[in-house]
Amino acid sequence: MKSCPLCNSASERVFEVKNTWILDCQVCGHRFADITADIEHVEKTYDDSYFYDGNAGYADYTIEADMLRKRGRQYAKKIAKHVNKGRMLDVGAAAGFILKGFEDEGWSGVGLEPNPSMAEYGKTKLGLNMNIGTLEMFDKNERFDLVSMVQVVGHLFDPSSAFASVKTILSDGGHLLIESWDRASFSARILGKHWHEYSPPSVLHWYSHQSLVTYLSGIGFEEIAYGRTLKKISGKRAKSLLQYRLGFKALFSPIPDSLSLPYPSEDLFWTLLKYNGTDHSQ
Ligand SMILES: [Zn+2]
Repeated sequence: MKSCPLCNSASERVFEVKNTWILDCQVCGHRFADITADIEHVEKTYDDSYFYDGNAGYADYTIEADMLRKRGRQYAKKIAKHVNKGRMLDVGAAAGFILKGFEDEGWSGVGLEPNPSMAEYGKTKLGLNMNIGTLEMFDKNERFDLVSMVQVVGHLFDPSSAFASVKTILSDGGHLLIESWDRASFSARILGKHWHEYSPPSVLHWYSHQSLVTYLSGIGFEEIAYGRTLKKISGKRAKSLLQYRLGFKALFSPIPDSLSLPYPSEDLFWTLLKYNGTDHSQ
């Protein structure tokens, strides 16, 4: 059994999903999949089929362009009273729509994305500065005022090295913005192992708002704002998710693909943290 990727302590089995054991750390309580992931896992999991074929991933990621861009703008506005506009790194940027939304609000930045097709889309169609890669292996000697990770922390193959990278690339007093699913939410607790986010191998870690902030506080971050996310998804993605979960198609066909549907957001949170240390040693 895998030991805790955050504190290296022993773990115990909680339940099994899709032939993968979900484990809890016996010391810090972190919940994670019993999967030893590496960069090859990332490249395989986030190949083009993840973004275009549906199932647990996206039916057609680019259809959600407008919604994601709007979300980027909304986040830029939300954090404006805490953070001065500057240069940002958007981790797991996919095609770059969220980053583009930040740019609409006056930020400049770089998107970091392991899938080469998505990075290429952001570069050629959106005119963004995109890097192919992961935070765990990010070795550029650059500094950013903000690192954003929108629905990314659950996918990190090595979260402790990823957050160590964040610390080395943040400017002094820089900020980290995270949006993530909340495993302590009402729907997550009611649905148990059937909660949609228990979907290994693409999702590897399950945080609650509290568990994430507790961990990040221990490595030098301080939370300065947080909230719940109002989310919308396209009709096409909604149908794809429902079909994947329930296994039938016909009932949902009247929903147009391009329709923007509200998505229950009580199990989604965002947090803005400030890094108070200066750790440029790594
Ligand atoms: Zn632990």
